[in-house]
Amino acid sequence: MSLPLVFDVDAVVLDIEGTTSATGYVVDVLYPYSRSRFGALLAERSDDPAVLRAVAQVRELLGEPDADAVRVEKALDEWLDDDVKATPLKTLQGLIWSEGFARGDLVSHFYDDVVPVLRRWHGAGVRLHVYSSGSVAAQRAWFASSPDGDLLPLVDGLYDTENAGPKQEPASYRRIAEASGVAAGRLLFLSDRPGELDAARAAGWHAVGIRRPGEPYYEQGVGDHAQAGSFDEISVSVSTSGSTT
Ligand SMILES: [Mg+2]
Repeated sequence: MSLPLVFDVDAVVLDIEGTTSATGYVVDVLYPYSRSRFGALLAERSDDPAVLRAVAQVRELLGEPDADAVRVEKALDEWLDDDVKATPLKTLQGLIWSEGFARGDLVSHFYDDVVPVLRRWHGAGVRLHVYSSGSVAAQRAWFASSPDGDLLPLVDGLYDTENAGPKQEPASYRRIAEASGVAAGRLLFLSDRPGELDAARAAGWHAVGIRRPGEPYYEQGVGDHAQAGSFDEISVSVSTSGSTT
């Protein structure tokens, strides 16, 4: 981990939990907050198209087309307990967290090295995208309500399991490359999970494993991927050799 990692790419795609931010914050602060708000959300926003769609997805996953709000809330609580990455759970959590952040109940977390480096990369013309199992709504709220203020102006694209697909499948990374208009070889993915790094590499991307002490995947490591203990160890620039002047 002593040598600097140098990349000539057009865009960096960021995982959140364990990479830009502490997984513990999500589990310790955000999960209990969402649990306390599922019932109210299902009752107060039952006409909201996003809520309606998520409830239909819950019923489908349960195989119970007539499941009522109490049954749906119980399923959401159980998935939260078991850390099931169910899309409707993520969608509804995203809505709840958006409200919580907007109200000022919640402030997100970023490791100290992250924001200065993101500002530097953005200033150098590197495009920044997010790819997290948390929903796009949750990602938006997370970046808008950081301890350093609104970071959304730094971010070009937000991808989740709904608009891109599962994080351990190469097809999801091909989808993001296509959607962002950046060639696979010009993309760098940063994540703490080896399965995600494998999938990105299989899609032709560059990938660096982020290893932060205390994170769930720290001991396991990132396999044979390049690795960094903080964003400071990674150097990213955009080559101008291909441009016409
Ligand atoms: Mg992660």
